[in-house]
Amino acid sequence: MHIEIIDAQNRGRNYNYLIACPETKEALAVDPIAVDACLNIANERGWKITHIVNTHEHIDHTGGNEAMREATDAKLCAHYLAPINNVDIKLHGDHSLQIGNTVKFEVLDTPGHTLSHICLFAYDLNDVPHLFTGDMLFNAGCGNCLHGGDVDKLYESFSEQFERLPDETHIYPGHDYIDNNLRFAQSVEPHNPHIKGLQDKLLTHPRPYVSTLHVERLVNPFFREDSNEIEASLRAKGFELPLEQVRRKDIFLALRELRNSW
Ligand SMILES: [Zn+2]
Repeated sequence: MHIEIIDAQNRGRNYNYLIACPETKEALAVDPIAVDACLNIANERGWKITHIVNTHEHIDHTGGNEAMREATDAKLCAHYLAPINNVDIKLHGDHSLQIGNTVKFEVLDTPGHTLSHICLFAYDLNDVPHLFTGDMLFNAGCGNCLHGGDVDKLYESFSEQFERLPDETHIYPGHDYIDNNLRFAQSVEPHNPHIKGLQDKLLTHPRPYVSTLHVERLVNPFFREDSNEIEASLRAKGFELPLEQVRRKDIFLALRELRNSW
């Protein structure tokens, strides 16, 4: 599959994605709000956008739907419960979504950031796995639950849906929050050498930087509930964690709460 990352160049630092089948040139647009930029790139590449996917219902992900549909006649796809107008294909967690001959996405039902949020997972022809995460998983962080979300469900989605995915999975989030998220990660785990290592790498690495689940498992605190240093940091900041048998979920919820006001 061909993947184009479009920086929407807006205040929210949104990323839009085009994913095309190299054989048929049919393409999927993920959360396209930079409509003109998406259309221009599709045009340059000779791609026909046949599908739009909204990862969830927030306006900074759905705001381009109507303009994109008018320009392309693409079918709009979203979670079956998502409060989004004019959805053509309602997606469930056991569905797949085929683009052209060669691109077949597995739909992951990942509630948390909102209750009707999906991620898309697929292997390319070289067997490299790719995951489009919307506002569920960010580089070195995760989405908040302040606008229609549920933090218990966010934890379940993290622990049940992402746990089984391979380390090599490339990660494509809905926003570019990596620098700020790494600063938060460092504040709760200052002796983790991988965080500083990635910050140093990003000083010269061209953006956007595409991470992998392997990298996320090394630097992202929301994958690192087993870290003694994170647990100690949360206790030092006044979070009341059980004295014995602290559950991963206790750490995850405390991290999410801390991040909300950080
Ligand atoms: Zn959102």
